[in-house]
Amino acid sequence: MHPFAYTRAATIAEALAVGAQAAAAYLAGGTELLNWMRLGIAVPQHVVDISRLADLDRVEPLPDGGLRIGALTRLNDAAQCTEVVRDYPVLSQAILKAASAQLRNLATVGGNLLQRTRCPYFRAEELLPCNKRVAGSGCAAREGLNDRHAIFGWTDACVAVQPSDPAVALAVLDAVIVTEAAGGGRRIPAREFHTLPADDPASDNVLVPGELIVAIELPAPAPRSAYLKLRERESYEYAIVSVAVALDLDADLIRRARIALGSVAHRPWRLDEAERRLVGCRPGSPEAIEAAAAAFTDARPLAHNAHKVAMAKNAVLRTLRTAAGMP
Ligand SMILES: Cc1cc2nc3c(=O)[nH]c(=O)nc-3n(C[C@H](O)[C@H](O)[C@H](O)COP(=O)(O)OP(=O)(O)OC[C@H]3O[C@@H](n4cnc5c(N)ncnc54)[C@H](O)[C@@H]3O)c2cc1C
Ligand code: SF4
Repeated sequence: MHPFAYTRAATIAEALAVGAQAAAAYLAGGTELLNWMRLGIAVPQHVVDISRLADLDRVEPLPDGGLRIGALTRLNDAAQCTEVVRDYPVLSQAILKAASAQLRNLATVGGNLLQRTRCPYFRAEELLPCNKRVAGSGCAAREGLNDRHAIFGWTDACVAVQPSDPAVALAVLDAVIVTEAAGGGRRIPAREFHTLPADDPASDNVLVPGELIVAIELPAPAPRSAYLKLRERESYEYAIVSVAVALDLDADLIRRARIALGSVAHRPWRLDEAERRLVGCRPGSPEAIEAAAAAFTDARPLAHNAHKVAMAKNAVLRTLRTAAGMP
């Protein structure tokens, strides 16, 4: 590993001051950053340890009935928090499906959103053509092995997917990412936080250098919500596809549906058209099946991942029923 300076920040102001320097990187749980440094994917000259910053590891109620989750809250603490389990089950379930219990004890909610793609060409120990890693070098996955890659929103420059499970739940909950930066903070809608390759294949999200996530805010509770993760084994494995659903019901009819897919694009993929068509349908009905299918007419599978379309379609229908409390 290359030499680097290390500062343990005592305050947000100190973190922002050091974090604004060129080639600085924040360290939260370290479960991603240290791997990148070992692989040469990240070469920070200054590591700014934010893990001891006060007050960023709490879950607190908001006056409007929502919830504020500090960015340094450990994944397991967020998932097991009473209010999250009761009012936002989709988020609790998504977090508990991420990584392993040991990793979740260390990894933070903010850090999770900033994890990078698991594309094997990007993570390879030797340098392979990868526009995300070396701009202009090509995309080995486009014509290579791409069974785990995108079916929506890709370009020839990059076909990677964003692998975070919690991000999919946050997109469906219309959560807001709250940041601080030297020039002032921002409130970023979760569904606009991750970028698509058409913007810039090297980029992952809209944060600017030195910008610090301080919290994630959840609006009104979504007790009828659920997360389904389909993967090769039931533990310690990334998704092939995942689905987050939040429903408002009027008796047994859908008044409002929010649906997002994970591991199908470089950002959680909201199914706006299907959401519109599902209003007034009963989950599981032929009309609901037809409405959900509409979401996949513009899917563009790659050479090795057409199975993702069928898996995602069926996962949406199953998760709609689960969120509605149906068998
Ligand atoms: C083996 C393994 C399996 C995994 N499986 C899954 C899985 O199935 N599903 C899933 O969702 N995730 C999975 N993960 C990802 C894991 O959840 C992330 O590694 C973790 O959440 C990152 O959090 P961290 O606090 O350790 O981040 P760090 O490693 O400390 O930081 C990651 C990045 O975020 C930046 N950063 C961290 N906090 C902030 C902040 N507050 N503001 C601005 N920048 C910040 C850092 O500078 C760095 O660039 C897995 C990880 C591993 C290693
Ligand atoms: S899909 Fe993206 S991350 Fe993977 S090799 Fe292509 S450019 Fe790199």
